Amino acid sequence: MTESTQESTEQQTQKDFPLLKLATYGKGGIGKSMVSCNLSVGLAQRGRKVLQIGCDPKHDSTFTLCGFMIPTIIDTLQKKDFVYSNVWSEDIIYKGLFNVDCVEAGGPPAGAGCGGYVVGETVKLLKELNAFYSYDVIIFDVLGDIVCGGFAAPLNYSDYCLITTDDSFDSLFAANRIFASIREKARTHPLRLVGVVVNRTLNRDLVMRFAKTSPFAILEALPLLETIKESRILGKPLIYMRKRLEDALENKIEQEEEVTIEEQREFDLMTYTCGAFLSLADVFSTNPEGVVPMELPDRTIFTLLSTG
Ligand code: ADP
Ligand code: MG
Repeated sequence: MTESTQESTEQQTQKDFPLLKLATYGKGGIGKSMVSCNLSVGLAQRGRKVLQIGCDPKHDSTFTLCGFMIPTIIDTLQKKDFVYSNVWSEDIIYKGLFNVDCVEAGGPPAGAGCGGYVVGETVKLLKELNAFYSYDVIIFDVLGDIVCGGFAAPLNYSDYCLITTDDSFDSLFAANRIFASIREKARTHPLRLVGVVVNRTLNRDLVMRFAKTSPFAILEALPLLETIKESRILGKPLIYMRKRLEDALENKIEQEEEVTIEEQREFDLMTYTCGAFLSLADVFSTNPEGVVPMELPDRTIFTLLSTG
């Protein structure tokens, strides 16, 4: 056993659960950060100590956990002239709601440098601070489509990948590219796709068509909800938003005002969505088997998803 393996094994045995590292991917704007934050909350509710690492230069991954855009690792390193020994855990790890720890890797200046390098430096720094192995779950919330090795870098540090998609051609096309990256990385380490979360629609027609040809699990389908949009603006997770809605409806009933069908529907779907995140947390609590996905050639997926 090498010194570092021994060290990480010792660190692991002090914890209640083995360390699970998960990367969330999907087309830009599809809801990855929403899924990451609320999955972090679900895992925390299930007793896991979670670290969420935002790996998008947009650095808004942890906004709904912290309520503000936390400084990035790159900001902090710049401030400390890249002298790693001057950086402390509290400079880069921020406490979010439900005791979820939050880090934003940040990104290189637009048009220069590589996002993969930034993720690598983030992991290096967390290891140097002895923070990396003190969690039960680490979630890397990664940006957009995989178009180069830099975008795929978080997969090097992950055991599992979770893809967020909707039921449309573009996001499934992006998912197919992510499949290819997972398969490539799975050659050298035990990386698995746990499945996909369908977001912003309860339809699953296209995604099921894709899953029949290239098998993967459809874990949850989440509706498009005004309250989810609002959660981003208020910087609060969905469980908080559901309670807020419940209080508002109870208040209406107390005031003898009518609760509309739309309001009741929004509340019922929020309750369903919060439950879906707990179920998703349960999937990751059982060390899922997952699959090494098989991507389809571009023309095949184009034909598969374009024809009626
Ligand atoms: P990504 O991380 O993939 O770029 P975000 O998680 O930041 O995407 O989501 C983009 C925007 O869409 C955010 O404002 C978010 O609140 C909103 N959003 C995500 N999922 C839903 C949903 N199911 N219903 C309504 N709005 C949503
Ligand atoms: Mg995001």
